Amino acid sequence: MTDLSIEKGLIPLPQIMEQREGFFVLNSSATVSPSPVTGYLLAAIAKQTGLDLGTGENPEIQLVIDPDLDVPHQEGYVLEVAPVSIIIRGKSESGLFHGIQTLRKLPGPEKGGDSIKIPACFIRDWPVYSFRGMHLDCCRHFMDLDFIKRYIDLIALYNMNVFHWHLTEDQGWRIEIKKYPKLTGKGAYRGSGENRYGGYYTQDEIREVIAYARDRYIEVIPEIDIPGHATAALAAYPEYSCTGGPFEVSTHWGIHTTNFCPGKEETFTFLQGILDEVMALFPSRYIHIGADEVKKDMWKKCPACQKRIRESGLKDEFELQGYFVNRMANYIIGKNRIPVGWNEILESSIDPSIIVQFWYPADDARIFQTLVGNGNKLIASYVSHCYFDLPAEKVDLRKVYSLKPVPEEHKMVMKDRVLGIEGEMWTEYAPQDTIDSKVFPRILALSEVQWTDEGKRDFDSFRSRVETHLKFLDTMGVNYGPII
Ligand SMILES: [Zn+2]
Repeated sequence: MTDLSIEKGLIPLPQIMEQREGFFVLNSSATVSPSPVTGYLLAAIAKQTGLDLGTGENPEIQLVIDPDLDVPHQEGYVLEVAPVSIIIRGKSESGLFHGIQTLRKLPGPEKGGDSIKIPACFIRDWPVYSFRGMHLDCCRHFMDLDFIKRYIDLIALYNMNVFHWHLTEDQGWRIEIKKYPKLTGKGAYRGSGENRYGGYYTQDEIREVIAYARDRYIEVIPEIDIPGHATAALAAYPEYSCTGGPFEVSTHWGIHTTNFCPGKEETFTFLQGILDEVMALFPSRYIHIGADEVKKDMWKKCPACQKRIRESGLKDEFELQGYFVNRMANYIIGKNRIPVGWNEILESSIDPSIIVQFWYPADDARIFQTLVGNGNKLIASYVSHCYFDLPAEKVDLRKVYSLKPVPEEHKMVMKDRVLGIEGEMWTEYAPQDTIDSKVFPRILALSEVQWTDEGKRDFDSFRSRVETHLKFLDTMGVNYGPII
C-alpha cells in the first residue's frame, strides 16, 4: 500500500485530501462521461498509460460541472476515487480540468500496463492565486511550435493558467505583423552567412498556439517589449528611433541603448498599428508592454524627445518614459484590455490601472513602496525566486518554495492587489533543448506556491514528494535538471 500513498506524489499539494480503502482498477474497458474536457482526458490517459478508453453508457469515470460545488474558488474541484468509480466535479470547466491534472498525478498512472491501480481517495481542492503563470522568451532563442505546445501541456499539468509569451527583443522580432512586414522580414533574423539565426511565428501559428492553450484553460499573454529592447524592430524601421539608424538586429546580450523615439508622433501611430494586430490575435485580458531596462542615452541627445519633454511639462527622461508608458497603456485600456509592464514603469508616475510585474529582488523596499503608494496590482516574479534561467545553485528549490509575493509589512494593504505569481524563463543561455533542465524541477516548487495555501505548505514534505515525483517526470519524458 505504501507505494500508492497519495501523499507521496501530488504536486501541487491539494488543500484537502484523504486516502480511502482500496483501488480503482483502470483498464481499457473503462468509459468516460461526455463533457467539454472528455476528449482531453481520453488523449491524456492514452498518452500517459497506453490505455485506449472511450465514452459509454453508465461510465465509470464521471466528469461533472457543478457551479454550486462547495469550493471557495471558480477553479476548484472535488475528485473522488472509489473502487467502482472515479468522479471529478468542477465548479467550472477549468475546475474540472484541474481535477483531471490531479488524477493524472496520483500514484498508479505512471506505471503503465494493461491495468492500473489508482488509490481510492477524496480530494477537495482550489487555488490560492487566480493568476498562475510561466513565461518563455522565444526571442534570444527561437522555440519551435511543437516545443511551445509541449511547454503549455506541462504548465497545465501543474495547474497553471497563464502562458506569458515574450515575442520581441533586441535579438529578434518573432510575431508576424501584416501591416509592417519588415518586422519579421528583417527583424526576425540576426547575423549573416553561416551564423544567420532566427525565425518567427505567422499569425496562423499564433492562433494555433492560442487555441491549444485555450483547450487547456490557459490564457496566452503576449509581450511586445517597448520602448527599449527594440533593436530588432528598429533595424527594420529605423525611422522610429531617435537617430534614424541604421541598426542591425543584435547578436549580443545585455542592455541595449536603441529605443523607440517618444518625441515623434509617427512612433505612436506605428506602435498602435502593431498593437491593433496583437489585440486582434490575442483574446487575453492582459497585454504586456514590457517597458523594462530603458536606457535614456538617445533620448537625452534627441531634439524631438527634448521638445516633447519641454512641451509636455516633463521633468526629465524618466518622466518621458512615464509619458510613453501611459500613452501606450491608455491605448490598450481604450480597447478594453489591461496593460501590464515590468516594475521599471514605477520610476515615473504611471496610471494605477496598469498591472506591475515585479522582477527586482523581493527585498527592494524602495520601489515596492512606490507600488504600494501608487495603487497598482502586482504579479510577483522576483529575480531572487522566480528566474529559472539562473543556475540552480543560486535559485534552488528551497528558495523558490520560500517565495512570499508581498513583504510582511505591506501584506495588509496589498491584500486584494496581488494578482498572482509567475516564473520566468529567459533564454540568452538557454536554447530549446536545455529549457526542461532549467524549468524542472523548480516549476514544481513554483506551482505549489501558486496553488497551495501558505499554512498547508512545508518544504520538507514538498522535498520528499519531489523525490517520488521524479518517476512521474521520467514517464512524461521531462529532462529535469539538478534536484537541489
Ligand atoms: Zn527621440
